[in-house]
Amino acid sequence: MSDILIVGGGIIGMLTARELSLAGMEVTIIERGEAGHESSWAGGGIISPLYPWRYSDPVSALAKWGQDIYPELIDEINSESGLDAELIQNGLLMLDNEQEEALAWAKKWQVNVQLIDNKEIYELEPGLSHSLVTDNKAIWMPDVRQVRNPRLVKATKKYLLKQGVKFIEQTEATGFLEKSNKIVGIMSTTGDIKAEKVLVAGGAWSANLLKNMDINTSVEPIKGQMILFKTEPGKIKRITLSQDRYVIPRQDGRVLVGSTLEHTGFDKTTTTDAREELMQEAFRIIPSLKEAEVEHHWAGLRPGSKDGVPYICPVHSIEGLYLNAGHYRNGVVLGPASARLAVDLILNRTPILESAEYGLERG
Ligand SMILES: Cc1cc2nc3c(=O)[nH]c(=O)nc-3n(C[C@H](O)[C@H](O)[C@H](O)COP(=O)(O)OP(=O)(O)OC[C@H]3O[C@@H](n4cnc5c(N)ncnc54)[C@H](O)[C@@H]3O)c2cc1C
Repeated sequence: MSDILIVGGGIIGMLTARELSLAGMEVTIIERGEAGHESSWAGGGIISPLYPWRYSDPVSALAKWGQDIYPELIDEINSESGLDAELIQNGLLMLDNEQEEALAWAKKWQVNVQLIDNKEIYELEPGLSHSLVTDNKAIWMPDVRQVRNPRLVKATKKYLLKQGVKFIEQTEATGFLEKSNKIVGIMSTTGDIKAEKVLVAGGAWSANLLKNMDINTSVEPIKGQMILFKTEPGKIKRITLSQDRYVIPRQDGRVLVGSTLEHTGFDKTTTTDAREELMQEAFRIIPSLKEAEVEHHWAGLRPGSKDGVPYICPVHSIEGLYLNAGHYRNGVVLGPASARLAVDLILNRTPILESAEYGLERG
């Protein structure tokens, strides 16, 4: 019997498993499909919230902690897995009129945010559309990194298997087993599985499972569609954001453009309207993308939550049950701190951050 069962093998479940395993716990991940094939596969992998000043302090605190350790974390995952999650630092260029908010936030959180003029903008991203640049300076965050999601989840899973974390895939948790208000395992589509503790990291689906126990959260699916262009390596250099649409260049010349924000339940289908809209947005930002082929189009379900603040907490009504879910648009950047904080709470260690802000009680 494992010390702890994690329901959900996305990036949040897997990073939590890593922390637990490093602390000497026996960990099993229960995954309905294949680990790392939902939102964590579908995302853009930017190691920063978009317009970070728009988020509340609990999100900024998790992001900052994670950004600081990302290089070390990816080194560990890459070297132990023998794979490459493709962590690169190519900065985030923002062409929206929020300079004052950006500078005030940067001062508070000690983040490197610069305002740059037209000449500097084109030096950084020569492919940028001239129609986008106005008299306003652009916001430039040179330290922002990115990872390549499908590679990150594959490498993390391989690393965890090597660490001795067990994966039970193609198995859906359908309910919890409890005795005298204490968790003793889960019910699943392949039978009951016993454990001392259970942590729910089920992404957008977390609320459904918890509802069975009258545990209410604000977690809901928010669909994001994304398209992928094939271009020459090095042609597009920076992550660029304008009017909530972004362009993310990967190392091999692939360029992601995203993403929609849709409240359409658990439907993951892609639509021709979204594809067309994202293509027009891509051309608006980088006109030369008109010459590139759209190679792929997909959708993922973000685990939306109120103000984008995840639930990282014990469920006080049932001993041994914990949550780590609701990371909305930022699960990759918030994941490392979120995992550490969850495990601090599970093991009664001094938490890395004040934990009350991430509790169920906030609604
Ligand atoms: C288009 C798009 C772009 C994004 N861009 C970024 C970005 O640039 N930077 C960033 O930081 N974040 C980004 N995100 C957000 C980020 O991807 C998510 O916040 C993160 O992946 C959430 O991870 P998770 O593990 O909670 O969820 P998921 O990856 O969805 O994993 C949850 C897992 O739980 C499993 N599961 C659910 N219920 C059960 C059950 N009952 N039994 C067993 N298994 C179950 C699911 O099958 C799934 O595999 C983006 C998301 C999308 C969709």
